[in-house]
Formats: sequence, C-alpha cells, structure tokens
Amino acid sequence: MPELPEVETIKRELKNKICGRKIKDIEVRLRKIVNVTPQEFKKRLIGKQILDVKRRAKLLMIELSGDERLLIHLKLTGQLIYERPRGASLRGRQEIRDKKQEMRGKHTHVIFYFEKGKMLLYNDLRQFGYIKLLKRDEALRVIEKMKFGPEPLDKKFTLEIFKEGLFKKARQKIKPLLMDQSFLAGLGNVYASEVCFYAEVNPQRTGSSLKDGEIGKIYEGIKEILQEAIKYKGSSVDTYLDIYGRKGGYMPHLKVYGREGKKCLRCGVKIKVIKLGGRSTYFCPKCQE
Ligand SMILES: [Zn+2]
Repeated sequence: MPELPEVETIKRELKNKICGRKIKDIEVRLRKIVNVTPQEFKKRLIGKQILDVKRRAKLLMIELSGDERLLIHLKLTGQLIYERPRGASLRGRQEIRDKKQEMRGKHTHVIFYFEKGKMLLYNDLRQFGYIKLLKRDEALRVIEKMKFGPEPLDKKFTLEIFKEGLFKKARQKIKPLLMDQSFLAGLGNVYASEVCFYAEVNPQRTGSSLKDGEIGKIYEGIKEILQEAIKYKGSSVDTYLDIYGRKGGYMPHLKVYGREGKKCLRCGVKIKVIKLGGRSTYFCPKCQE
C-alpha cells in the first residue's frame, strides 16, 4: 500500500501538473470507485478548475472551483497516472511511451480529460481504492471523522506530542502502533519496520517498555526515514508508481523490509520475519533484540 512518502510524491507531482487546469470531460468506467452516479460525477466536475492538491495521512484531496472536493484513497493498488498526448514531447523515448500505453487498460477505472489531450487516469488492480466527490464542508467532516493522528513531518509533531501519544497507548506493541493512523498519520508496514530498525527496537516491544533514549530514536527515525523516502519518490514494494509511471527510488535504501534471510547491514546476523498484527514484520534479532 502506498504510504506517506508515496502519496506525498503523487501530491507534489499532481500539484505541479494539474493545478489551474480545467476538467473537459470524465469517463467513469467502474461505478463503485466513485461515491455518486457517473452522471452526477460528470455534471458537477466538468468545467471546474483544479485549485490545489493536498494530502492528509494517505488521503489525497483535490480542491476544485465551485466548492467541489475530490478525496482519493489509493488503498492497496490505486495509481494516478498523468498522460500527455501520445507521442508529444516523448521524442525518442519509445520505452516510456510503450509503458504509458500499457497503463491505460483494463484496470483504468476513471479518466479525467484536460485541455490539449492531457489526462489523468485512475488505475486500480484490486479495486479497494475510491474517489469521493464532496462539497468542501462535507469533505472536511469526512476527514475529521477519520480521526487521523498527527502528521509526522509537521512541525507541530514534537517529541513531547509523540511521548504523550505513546503514554496513552502504552500497552500496545510499537510497530502496529506506528501503523495505527489514529496514533500517527501516514506510516504503513514498510516504513514502520524501517523505523524500528533505525531505532534498534524490537517491533514487539510495548510502548511502556521503551526507554527515553529509544523513544527519541524512534521519533528521529520517523522524521529522517520519511524525509529520505520522499527525496527518492517513495518505494515500489508492490504496484506503486508515480504520476509519470515511474517506480520509487527508495527501494535500495530499505534496510530491513523485504530482506528476510539476508545479512543485517549493521551486524551481519540474518534478518528475520514474523507476523505481527497480521503483517509481515522484518527485524534483526541481534540489533533489535
Ligand atoms: Zn543487526
């Protein structure tokens, strides 16, 4: 599932590409992805201008004129792909062009058309994602109801706030807790494992068992790892692609996730995998004793 760095990458790229554009037409190929009838979806959106693109946790919000808002959650396999007209400004880049043509296919469920043939595709192999069309106030209410925890890269997310949150959920295991969206917004299975490795903390430790220094390291790890991952435009551990159809570049920088049986980069002991809260959890049995 795309996590904070992947969704943030998509947000930044979208902002760059679609802000100011007007929606010329829309095709809804799979009804269940949107929350209203395709007729209403089109009626309310065609002619509207994209004003801004925001992110809260793993949720994208597109702001449009006329007080319309689109809330987009990619869930497991959602992709947003921005396409230029075939051939244009892709001279000699046949490979990219072929890849893009592949992208518009049976898993393309919604298409937004802009001027000059530009378009935004919503692809979703497993179809768990959604696009909700709401008025501004409704959208804000929906987001509020989701009760997201603090944004980890926000200045307001201080070590004190982190400690307070941990104190309230002291009996929970740290790795599933880091993935709990009401505790902290945006972390999923990949980056929660990486943070525990960074802090040399066993993912099964409870909040109450953590020493001050360990809490400090976890806090530092969250900020560092997320910032680094954004710099590399995320990780493509499954189907994640950015809006240009490119994989994230952070994969080679993952230190523990997906490295079962390989040597720990810190001590050389073999990385182990266990199930924790139903999710594969990678850790070094020595560094993260
Ligand atoms: Zn180790």
